[in-house]
Amino acid sequence: MPTMPKNKRAPWMPAPAPAWTHRNRWPGYKLNKWKEASAQFKILNPLCSTPGCNGATHSTDHKRPISDGVDPWDQSNWQALCYDCHKKKTVDDRTRAQRRPGKG
Ligand SMILES: [Zn+2]
Repeated sequence: MPTMPKNKRAPWMPAPAPAWTHRNRWPGYKLNKWKEASAQFKILNPLCSTPGCNGATHSTDHKRPISDGVDPWDQSNWQALCYDCHKKKTVDDRTRAQRRPGKG
């Protein structure tokens, strides 16, 4: 009886899930604990924390990115950001991480 080679996907099977685009994505974002804490934070902070922006809060952001090794649950490191400011900060964080020089 012929079988499919293991590394080949049968045509009727769904395509594999795409890889994360954000390589440092913290797995805690998937937890209900985070979703609830973030929703609460956004209720308390309905406006973007960028000075002069005043956009509606879209995301709970970590001021210092988690990839820096900070505690993700430390709310003193949280800030409310609107969609545009969060997008911009994410790009800035990634750019900074790429530019970060070696230790020393
Ligand atoms: Zn904003």
